[in-house]
Amino acid sequence: PLVLGIETSCDETGVGIVRGRTLLANAIASSMDEHSRFGGVIPEIAARAHLESMTPTIERALADAGVTLEEVDAIAVTGGPGLAGALMVGVSAAKALAVSLGRPLYAVNHLVGHVGADLLTGDALRPAVGEIGELELPTVALLVSGGHTSLLVVRDLVSDVELLGETIDDAAGEAFDKVARLLGLPYPGGPHIDRVAADGDPQAIRFPRGLTLPKDMAKHRYDFSFSGLKTSVARWVEKRVAAGEPVPVADVAASFREAVVDVLLTKALAACADLEIPRLLLGGGVVANARLREVAAERAAASGVQLRVPPLSLCTDNGAMIASLGAQLVAAGHDPSSLDFGADSTLPVTNIQL
Ligand code: ATP
Ligand code: MG
Ligand code: FE
Repeated sequence: PLVLGIETSCDETGVGIVRGRTLLANAIASSMDEHSRFGGVIPEIAARAHLESMTPTIERALADAGVTLEEVDAIAVTGGPGLAGALMVGVSAAKALAVSLGRPLYAVNHLVGHVGADLLTGDALRPAVGEIGELELPTVALLVSGGHTSLLVVRDLVSDVELLGETIDDAAGEAFDKVARLLGLPYPGGPHIDRVAADGDPQAIRFPRGLTLPKDMAKHRYDFSFSGLKTSVARWVEKRVAAGEPVPVADVAASFREAVVDVLLTKALAACADLEIPRLLLGGGVVANARLREVAAERAAASGVQLRVPPLSLCTDNGAMIASLGAQLVAAGHDPSSLDFGADSTLPVTNIQL
């Protein structure tokens, strides 16, 4: 089926078009420039930007795909989780399209959408996908971005996703953003930490690895915690400043990055071993991190785990991943969502469709 997917859970207005598993268009507008001076995403600004970008982004996706709205068989939209006001704009636009075109609407889970991104093939993507072959299930999936840090086991994309763990405080990307701020680097900080860390020594400072010991308090066995790490970096920097010594920014950035990467991959690969699932899929904006990609490749190879990393344009929030999951729901014969659903900002990952 030809599916148009709309994503508005955070700062990206994403409209993707797929035919089954073939990616035809992935148009994105981001309001990040408007948020950067505040050092974080401002929900009201994001919602207003989605409103302004929605129609032009839909038009751009249709033009890129070379299809008309009338040819679209189904609409998919992120129903949650995400920022309430931002989600509402996408959901309203999707309902309006579905009603006016007389097409079914599938409201889907954003996190499961990140996994759906992996299924896509297409001219622009063929090299990356071709190298690693078909997605095999079950797989463990590690999703890391500014808003979420979740470890999942996906047994069936449209019917069986289980949460193994999530962050109990800051998301991994949020930790990058906060540490960047205290090192005087611009927002969003992830790319800047990555750049500065390239000249630093990752072993210079041993920062704590949160929630890696069995005695640690956590709701799920594979929960994450990054706020203690952030505080530890802050204290370390404060002591230096108080002593009148220069702050070795590159070493701090490299050591912090190493701690985050270590915790993420230690837990993800422990889950692969414990569940005897030798497959790990990465998704989310933090996947742009050079060290995360490097260490993931090394450790996965060393433990006999097949690593899958979709192209970066499909790792950050986008509409194509939502269209992809929608296409899978259509193909599996699932009923469309009833038109009276509302966006759910805290939708649990086990709810694949609203
Ligand atoms: P959501 O959580 O809903 O997916 P988001 O907009 O926060 O939304 P993304 O756009 O996928 O998520 O990712 C942005 C996050 O990724 C930011 O926190 C940013 O700092 C982080 N990030 C981007 N590049 C890097 C990098 N090279 N290293 C580490 N973190 C990075
Ligand atoms: Mg974003
Ligand atoms: Fe996301």
